[in-house]
Amino acid sequence: MTSALYPTYPRADLAFKHGEGAWLIAENGDRYLDFSAGVAVLSLGHNHPRLVETLKRAAEEPWHVSNLFRIPQAERLAERLCDATFADLVFFTNSGAEAVECAIKTARKFHAVNGQPERYRLITFEGAFHGRTLATIAAGGNAKYLEGFGPPVEGFDQVPFGDFDAVEAAITQETAGVLLEPIQGEGGLRVFSPSFLAQLRALCDARGLLLVFDEVQCGVGRTGKFLACEHAGVAPDIAALAKGLGGGFPLGACLATREAAKGMTLGAHGSTFGGNPLATAVGGAVLDVVLAEGFMARVARLGALLRQRLAEFEDRYPSLIEEIRGEGLMFGVKTRIPNGDFAAAARAEGLLTVLAGDNVVRLLPPLTIDESDIAAAAARLSDACARLAAPAEKLGAA
Ligand SMILES: *Cc1c(COP(=O)(O)O)cnc(C)c1O
Repeated sequence: MTSALYPTYPRADLAFKHGEGAWLIAENGDRYLDFSAGVAVLSLGHNHPRLVETLKRAAEEPWHVSNLFRIPQAERLAERLCDATFADLVFFTNSGAEAVECAIKTARKFHAVNGQPERYRLITFEGAFHGRTLATIAAGGNAKYLEGFGPPVEGFDQVPFGDFDAVEAAITQETAGVLLEPIQGEGGLRVFSPSFLAQLRALCDARGLLLVFDEVQCGVGRTGKFLACEHAGVAPDIAALAKGLGGGFPLGACLATREAAKGMTLGAHGSTFGGNPLATAVGGAVLDVVLAEGFMARVARLGALLRQRLAEFEDRYPSLIEEIRGEGLMFGVKTRIPNGDFAAAARAEGLLTVLAGDNVVRLLPPLTIDESDIAAAAARLSDACARLAAPAEKLGAA
């Protein structure tokens, strides 16, 4: 597999020619059940009629006009995001990392315009992932991602996962806020408890800090609520969205309260492509489906069903599966064997998954799956587990 692409990804030797709902058909005709969903991007699955129709219609209108002009599709999408969340204002981006960058800049600028420019530091958590730009690798603090790229961007103080005392102890005169994913995605589907999020909210209020949620992976209905933080009844001051928001079209958003965004005035930030008509038209169509009556309740119900099936495998194969984690349709299977072996066995049975840190295999199906897709996934996982659990000598015969 030689290619002119940077060899930065461990790509499977698989390419696809067709997709429909939760299914992908490879170039050689093999069918795969796609529980990777482009890493939680394909909230509505492949080839969703509403998205296809919206994109086709948008393609007949101006694709791009720049942010030097009004973009009605973006204005409408921003309004709907505000109606659906804690937010009053939105900045659109093309990716998750850019949405987090905007969140970081918004938090820093808030204190700067309050006359405290020295308050620029954010407290972050071990196991975090916030993207691959220079600021977001510094925020994530993963040494592997920082190595060789020069001095890390200043201003991030990392504390152990879920350690409230450590957060309190890390606060200084320079602290601007706290940044976290309510459910860590790349870090291994680690869920911050509702009580921890509520404690953070109270702490931020008491100390004049901004609470910033990176919901790039767990947001937009993935957990059965529009934002994952709603499970805890906690609202942030600023939140980053991306992945599922565009349903496959690159689109991110930084959401903020009017107060938190008070520093983001004329000229404070910009993006050439951010919030262009194509992206925001598609984002609007995603919201038409995700915000429709009953959709997120259905995600929660299907998530409970999938969890039940996964729990059965956990009981049946304790030598393979240590723990099931997650919420809604965002699952992590912590494996006792190398997670790559587990994912490879699932793929050999026609089920696509995504790896995460902490030896976890992620199941991130489209939010539009139905009971038959869950049954199909369970059948494939069952075969994969049986194969992995079989003594080595039987494998050849199988
Ligand atoms: C994927 C992800 C990002 C980065 O998004 P990109 O679109 O790859 O820049 C940031 N934060 C979280 C939680 C993510 O899962």
